[in-house]
Amino acid sequence: MNSLKGKGAVVTGAASGIGWAIAAGFVEAGASVLLCDLNANALDAVARELGEHAVGRVTDVSDESQVEGAMRTAREAFGSLDIVVNCAGFGAIAPLTELTGDKWNSVQAVTLGGVFYGVKHAARQMLEQGRPGVIINISSVNGRQPGEGQVAYCAAKAGVDMITRCGALELGGRGIRVVGIAPGLVETPLTRKELEDPAKRELFLNIIPMKRAIEAKEIAAAAVFLASDNARSINGDTIAIDGGSLTCGYPALLTGLKSA
Ligand code: NAP
Repeated sequence: MNSLKGKGAVVTGAASGIGWAIAAGFVEAGASVLLCDLNANALDAVARELGEHAVGRVTDVSDESQVEGAMRTAREAFGSLDIVVNCAGFGAIAPLTELTGDKWNSVQAVTLGGVFYGVKHAARQMLEQGRPGVIINISSVNGRQPGEGQVAYCAAKAGVDMITRCGALELGGRGIRVVGIAPGLVETPLTRKELEDPAKRELFLNIIPMKRAIEAKEIAAAAVFLASDNARSINGDTIAIDGGSLTCGYPALLTGLKSA
């Protein structure tokens, strides 16, 4: 049993998809969770659903002062900050030669920069309080696997994996583990629209040996384990939960549908 009883946690991107599932998994395992996301109404709805051990806070992870405020608030509200999951992120699909600088910057600001701020300010609170902690960064198979039309996302996620390794190296000796999860295809609001297109769905499922998408609750189960003492020797690694898709190529999102 992976118990998180009495732990204080922050989850970013918690109003939807994988972040929502992780927050639910943490509450079920006994933690109290500060849910951070952009949309106040969506946060309220999730907090209500998760009950008294979840509270929402509007936070833009690309704004350092907002991230710092969220980490401090969680520590004050729960008595300690023990677990932080940096989950908020998105990509942009465009040919490399067409991708605008603005799009590139917005992906890096949230998907990479938000993780840097999350690790930095989680670690500061954890060091100040003098208790061990765990930081989990949500990466992607695209941190290792290039995707056609996905240069901004792939570069950001590769950067997330390196933040995880650098964090583990610098903080491991001070009681803080930094680990990552690299999901494959998970059916969430982020991917649902793409997957509603039967041709695209087939393209994606073809590169997953198990021929199915991952459920968000499977990512949550891994996060609960990684946050627990059962994973106390796992540090610096990013674990793929992808149905085996890293054994294959990535779907050709720009050219693969030309004949469809
Ligand atoms: P999702 O359903 O879109 O959830 C992401 C949440 O993050 C949304 O509520 C979004 O709010 C929020 N968000 C966006 N920008 C933010 C910001 N600046 N500050 C705070 N919150 C922000 O996506 P998901 O599929 O659960 O993905 C979650 C993470 O898993 C991402 O890092 C993604 O790259 C990664 N991942 C997903 C998959 C997959 O197949 N789904 C695979 C690999 C990795 P709005 O909706 O209001 O923008």
